[in-house]
Parts: sequence; C-alpha cells; structure tokens
Amino acid sequence: MPLGTKEKNWLTEQFGRHVRFDEPMTRHTYFKVGGPAEAFVTPPDTAALEQLMRWCRSDRQPWMVIGGGSNLLVKDGGIGGVVISLSRCLKDIRTTVGGSDVRLTAQAGVKLPSLCRYCIERGFAGFNFALGIPSTVGGAIVMNAGTARGSMADVLESVDCLQPDGRWVRFDRRGLDFSYRCLSWKGSGPNGEGEIPIIVDGSFSLKPGDAKKLADEAKEILKMRTAKQPIDQPSAGCFFKNPAPDRSAGELIEKAGLKGRQIGGARVSTRHANFIVNGGGATARDILALMELVQKRVAEKFAVELVPEVKIVGH
Ligand SMILES: Cc1cc2nc3c(=O)[nH]c(=O)nc-3n(C[C@H](O)[C@H](O)[C@H](O)COP(=O)(O)OP(=O)(O)OC[C@H]3O[C@@H](n4cnc5c(N)ncnc54)[C@H](O)[C@@H]3O)c2cc1C
Repeated sequence: MPLGTKEKNWLTEQFGRHVRFDEPMTRHTYFKVGGPAEAFVTPPDTAALEQLMRWCRSDRQPWMVIGGGSNLLVKDGGIGGVVISLSRCLKDIRTTVGGSDVRLTAQAGVKLPSLCRYCIERGFAGFNFALGIPSTVGGAIVMNAGTARGSMADVLESVDCLQPDGRWVRFDRRGLDFSYRCLSWKGSGPNGEGEIPIIVDGSFSLKPGDAKKLADEAKEILKMRTAKQPIDQPSAGCFFKNPAPDRSAGELIEKAGLKGRQIGGARVSTRHANFIVNGGGATARDILALMELVQKRVAEKFAVELVPEVKIVGH
C-alpha cells in the first residue's frame, strides 16, 4: 500500500531534511538508473535508525536498506515503502592496538576506499584486498565483497546488527555463514530464513604492518584495476558471479562474442566483458534485457547458467 498523508507527516516530523519523497534512485546507484523511492531516509544516527525500524515494523511499512548503491539495479518503476540509506551516516572508525593484533571497528556507512586509506596511513595490514571497491562497510559485509586477494570474511570478527523489531544483536564470525559474494545467517537466521538485519558496524582483526609497503602495494593494485575495468562509466562492477573459481563469467561472455553488445543505453563493456555499463541514457529495462541476452547466449554456447551478482530490486 502506498504511503499515506499520515505516514508522510510522521516521517517528515521525525526526520525533517533527512527524508525525501519520490526520490529518484538514479541519484543513489552507481548504474545511475532506477525509478523513485517512495520515501528515502538517511537516518542521522543509530537512535534515529532504531526509531525508524520500530515504526516500519509497527506500521507494517515495507523497507529496504542500502549502502553506496554500487551493487544495485533498481527497476524503472522504483521502490515502494521506505528506502533507508546508510551511505551518509554511521561513519565512525575506532581501533585498539594490542601487541600483534589490531582490532578495528567501522560503522556501516564508512566507505571502503576511506577505510583502506585509513589502514594504510596507520600501517594496519589486512584490508588492501578491498582497494578500489566502491562499497560501504555494511554493503561489503552483506556481499562478502572481495577480490582474488581476499574478502570480508577473511578479516571480519563480529557484526552489530539492528533487527527489524528494533532489537540489537551481535554475531561473532562463527555465527555467520560466508560464501562467494554472499553472507547468510547460520541455521534459520535471526529473523527467519533469508532475512538479514541491518548491519550497523563490523569489527575486524588486522595486523601491524609497514605503511610504506602497504602504500606501494596499494598503488600497484589500483593501477591494475584501472587498466582492466571501465571505471569511467556507470556500472555495478561485475554483473554476474563467476560460475566456478576457475571459470570466469567475463571470459565466457567474451568467448560468446558479446563484448560491445548493446541494447538501448546498456552495453557489455569492451574493456571487461563482465561489466554491463550505462553508456548514456540506459534504463533498468535496457540493462535487464541485455542481462537476459547474455545469459541466453552463454547458456546456449557453454551450457552454463550465469547468476547475477548485482542485486535487482524494485518493480
Ligand atoms: C566500479 C565497481 C567495481 C566493483 N568492484 C568490486 C570488487 O572488486 N569486488 C566486489 O566484491 N564487488 C565489487 N563491486 C560491487 C560492489 O561495490 C559491492 O558488491 C559492494 O559490497 C556493495 O556495497 P554497497 O555499500 O554499495 O551496497 P549496495 O549496493 O547499496 O547494497 C548491496 C546489498 O547489500 C545490502 N546492504 C547494504 N548495506 C547494508 C547494511 N548496512 N545492512 C544490511 N544490508 C545492507 C543491500 O540491501 C543490498 O542487498 C564493484 C562495483 C563497482 C561499481
């Protein structure tokens, strides 16, 4: 059910300039496509987030949380209910150094590039694998973001979460089930199968290292990424998951002759075949049509089903 005047008034009273209605998601996704969010809230702190969660639950409002929008494809009809964005709040980083261990806690809204820089400047080793991933900490944990050099699962110790009913809960690493670009909760999960609470912060175990060596390594990693990826065009990074550790989706797409293939404004990148880019004026419909074409061709040629890594949301 659409938000009524009563609901909109409540949101405006509580969140003031932190809420917008009919907010175009083109502004909040790296793909730069997507229809409007019915209500778009950037809670200024955890107390406001908690209050919002309780309201959504008691008022039965559908909600979804987003980080930086770097892995999202929002459909052209937009998103009903409340979109909660954490990319402009929850930015604290705290560290404790004890002997050969560095314990770092970062809130969900911290951007990974800033976190990587923070660690390099202080000589904390362990996060260089994440260089160049344009994620927030919360999104990176949920996606188990990473590269061939490692992923969030390798450094994460615990997460603090806010459950849909407004209760706080901490999970340590043993209670979290990480797989390739995925976090699921062990057993039935805290909120029933598949339902993930809002991650509010993550604690990580790092090691003391040499700041100069880390900075030199960072330069190399970023140079390689820039050479291989079309980072100058809107995208959501790799569109499909690799079907197996030794089978890259990009290679299959390239061998299927799809590099440069275009539907409307959406194009298979000529630099990296697993990137679908918005070449200008693309709609979500263009991107989804190209996704289906790629899936069909790769299935016909290699009998492999490509599964999107990108989260497709909205209607
Ligand atoms: C140019 C480019 C390069 C990329 N390179 C890589 C790469 O090398 N490796 C890689 O793994 N990914 C890569 N990505 C993909 C993307 O950056 C990651 O998937 C990232 O982790 C998404 O984080 P986000 O904060 O943008 O989350 P969003 O895209 O906003 O959301 C992704 C999912 O996480 C959920 N979510 C977000 N925040 C929270 C939270 N606090 N609590 C609960 N759920 C939450 C959302 O509901 C959604 O389901 C790349 C993307 C781009 C555009």
